[in-house]
Amino acid sequence: MNKEIEIVGAGPAGLVAAINLAKAGCKVTVYEEKSEVGHRFHGDFQGLENWSSEEDAAVLLERLGIKTNYTCQPYSELTVFDANLNKRIIRSQRPLFYLVQRGHAPGCLDHGLMEQAKEADVEIVFNKRVDKLESGGIVGIGPRAADAIAKGIIFNTTMEDTAAAILDDTLAPKGYSYLLIHKNKATMATCMFKDFKREKECFERTVETFKKVFPKLNITDAKEFGGYGNFFFGKPAFENGKYYVGEAAGLQD
Ligand SMILES: Cc1cc2nc3c(=O)[nH]c(=O)nc-3n(C[C@H](O)[C@H](O)[C@H](O)COP(=O)(O)OP(=O)(O)OC[C@H]3O[C@@H](n4cnc5c(N)ncnc54)[C@H](O)[C@@H]3O)c2cc1C
Repeated sequence: MNKEIEIVGAGPAGLVAAINLAKAGCKVTVYEEKSEVGHRFHGDFQGLENWSSEEDAAVLLERLGIKTNYTCQPYSELTVFDANLNKRIIRSQRPLFYLVQRGHAPGCLDHGLMEQAKEADVEIVFNKRVDKLESGGIVGIGPRAADAIAKGIIFNTTMEDTAAAILDDTLAPKGYSYLLIHKNKATMATCMFKDFKREKECFERTVETFKKVFPKLNITDAKEFGGYGNFFFGKPAFENGKYYVGEAAGLQD
């Protein structure tokens, strides 16, 4: 196969498509509007959820030909608090999720996938925004609207590895507040699905509440971050010669 394929967006969706197509013998070019991968992330932790399908997420990635050249730590325990701060611990035999880090730095998912794409001879053209793919291709440009927003901090802590969530509309309207700790680095955020104007207040309540339930949290060197996500159904993933992948196809988590 000597087909030439153009992909817009060097996020996980675009890069995984690129790696697979290049390995299948295609000549692949990825256009990325920023100067680096993972630009909209800040070294924050995310979870590759492992409850959505029978197949383990790590096995699925391996089956797709993706190597684990990034932090990918299984977590099998999640502490959940309700709005009255009643605590439940959810444990699972197989990992509930795999913790990954997002951003441009080594160890981050985005950086690892970029390296694998380069190894597979994918050409990545940075600082190149593409609004139209005249002759078709793959669109992996991420979210186009904010259905949910997140506001949080990354920080250092002396607390042990932890995954926790609080379900309380005064902290995260129709969403959840989360705390992920790995090797003394932490990410804490409110993820809100409505009342976006209350973002600051919800974020501050989130921090205060996590401090209350985890008195040993000891936050140092905190840096704020924010982001947004897009979810939708019903739009075709293939239209006018273009395949939509990842969040550009409405897919999340
Ligand atoms: C704070 C936060 C926490 C999250 N937590 C989780 C989590 O725990 N688990 C989970 O599964 N998901 C989580 N998500 C969602 C997850 O980050 C996204 O679903 C995922 O990054 C989507 O990958 P993607 O490749 O589709 O898009 P992106 O990662 O957004 O990548 C798209 C790329 O396309 C580039 N681009 C955009 N437009 C153009 C253009 N016109 N031309 C060229 N390049 C372009 C962008 O610069 C970007 O690099 C979270 C999101 C946020 C914001």
